[in-house]
Amino acid sequence: MRLGCSRDAAIRQARYSQLHRDREAAPKLRTMFPVVEQLRVELSFEGDGAVTPVPQSYVLHPPACAYFSFPCPYGDCDGRFELTAAVHAVVEDSSHLIEGVLDCAGSRVSAFRFKPLCLLRLCFTLTAVCSPAH
Ligand SMILES: [Zn+2]
Repeated sequence: MRLGCSRDAAIRQARYSQLHRDREAAPKLRTMFPVVEQLRVELSFEGDGAVTPVPQSYVLHPPACAYFSFPCPYGDCDGRFELTAAVHAVVEDSSHLIEGVLDCAGSRVSAFRFKPLCLLRLCFTLTAVCSPAH
């Protein structure tokens, strides 16, 4: 009986195409933050599971899409980490460096009726390189 598996795959597929559409619709970094020349996003994870997702890092330049909603790295989790507010903060902050922690609010897809909360912990570091004030 593999029906459950294919349904989960369909849900995952829908999630990714929605994510792709959202990202395509996002404004460019240079439109949203004209002063930003480079934005570095570093993500690391702390979880209780047997497998902790590998760290991720991104460097965004002005033509990149200003889209800061990162899906939980667990493929069976429907959570997202929303870093938009933190990106606004790092651009406005004079040090242009922000560190923070977020817990995943999503739940893991489960074969059981009970869907365990994910609670994967994200530790993020944002660094902005901004052009001098003018
Ligand atoms: Zn999650």
